[in-house]
Amino acid sequence: MDRVLNYIDGNWTEASDGVFFDVINPASGEIVAKAAKGTVDDAKRAIMAAKREFYENKNGWRRFSAVKRSEILLKIADKLESLRDEFARTETIDNGKPLREAYGDVDDAVSYIRYYAGAIRMPSGASYEVNDGFGPMHSYTIKEPVGVCGLITPWNYPLLMGVQKLAPALAAGNTVVFKPSSETPLSTVKFFEILAESEMPAGTVNLVMGGGSTVGSAISESPDVDMVSFTGSTEVGQSIYRAAAVNVKKIGLELGGKSPNVIFADADLDGAVEWAMMGVFFNQGEVCSAGSRIIIEESIKDEFVKRLADRADKMVLGNGLENPDMGPLVSKSHMEKVLGFIEKAKEEGAKVVCGGYRYTEGQCAKGYFVRPTILDNCSNDNIAVKKEIFGPVVTIQTFKTEEEAVKMANDTEYGLAGAVFTKDGARALRVIKEIRAGITWVNCYNPAFVEAPWGGYKKSGTGRELSFEGLEEYTETKQITINLNPGELSWYKKR
Ligand code: NAD
Repeated sequence: MDRVLNYIDGNWTEASDGVFFDVINPASGEIVAKAAKGTVDDAKRAIMAAKREFYENKNGWRRFSAVKRSEILLKIADKLESLRDEFARTETIDNGKPLREAYGDVDDAVSYIRYYAGAIRMPSGASYEVNDGFGPMHSYTIKEPVGVCGLITPWNYPLLMGVQKLAPALAAGNTVVFKPSSETPLSTVKFFEILAESEMPAGTVNLVMGGGSTVGSAISESPDVDMVSFTGSTEVGQSIYRAAAVNVKKIGLELGGKSPNVIFADADLDGAVEWAMMGVFFNQGEVCSAGSRIIIEESIKDEFVKRLADRADKMVLGNGLENPDMGPLVSKSHMEKVLGFIEKAKEEGAKVVCGGYRYTEGQCAKGYFVRPTILDNCSNDNIAVKKEIFGPVVTIQTFKTEEEAVKMANDTEYGLAGAVFTKDGARALRVIKEIRAGITWVNCYNPAFVEAPWGGYKKSGTGRELSFEGLEEYTETKQITINLNPGELSWYKKR
């Protein structure tokens, strides 16, 4: 059995107390690897290595030219691409997702690295006319790396969420301490094997696996970490936000969602069903932006739900390696949490149209499978409408007027994503502008692109990932003012 280690200051190391944790394949419940369970001491060592590399190495990563950093990142992307099969299989075994979706993640990760390798060579900063009263002067800005970045990721897109942070952070010249979710560390370890072989100086990238309350807290509380970028639940995000106040860290938070998918009666029904499937059952519904609240015009509700249920009922569940329609949920405890939400929603009046139970047929007997679930008759205060379930569960609510639809869509503490389906262009634009969310779609659901920003309003987070905005999150802006006539007395002296 594989034993995978932490990577600290250029060395692969066991945890300081030698403890390992089990990594489990959720399709079978089997242990597939043992991973070094990093301690607070390991996290501190990693932070100090990243700090030394950033602040003391005169030939360090941040002093490499942007061109050099870009070239190194491009080689890393090439290497990742060459190991596409290995990475995709590892992701499926660790997370459960169907293999074709894991291939999609690897391809996206390669594309993200290439994007940021290019983006860092684009012009940034600005020039300002500032001569008012002070004589001839000129101000301009440059972008500099923030420093030591603590990057903490969830389990739903282990490789991709990691690369989404690592690529811009490293392109910008930062050093990094990375903590993946303990549910799914394996693709990250493999990615660090590629980073370890690159020309990055020791200490530039550090990997510490382990618990959130130990390693994760040590990173977010450390006064030696300059920025934390976190993707995960809103509850943990809130505690990280509080901890980051210690040294007023820069912070990026990509948190949970409970996103509305608003469907009007004039929508293309086949298209709306197709995208709604993608919106809530892709990646087992373990997607932050999932369209988990379908808000549909009353007159087409019955037909829509019938078609959606037909599709959902036909979905084949199985081991992700065999490319079923849907794989298992990530862990036993997560499966139990999802089933618990379904039970509570039923008690509160929801009607199960399809699914709603653990699936144990055939090869699924020992895995953590939940049938795709549609809950009808949901009032706006039903637990399944209010809480992020993060599984293959969608609620159905109806509206009669556009105003009612918008009100329902916005009746949530989250603001990550949302969509509207209609053939009326003016209405599409009107409604999408009213939805209080950072990522929105018209007549489609869930496509994401590295070229376009990603992030939430309200309790779904702060800051943006992907796109050029995602790169800027990992930079500080320095303003430089030049006196163009050094002999000139300042305005102050003249007075
Ligand atoms: P989680 O919050 O439980 O854990 C995320 C990471 O934080 C893990 O690595 C975990 O070990 C670590 N952690 C836990 N407690 C910590 C603490 N006190 N201090 C520091 N780190 C700590 O989330 P999860 O269950 O892994 O992932 C699911 C959540 O992630 C969902 O809420 C989902 O919406 C969210 N998510 C958001 C986005 C987005 O782009 N907005 C993307 C993917 C997932």
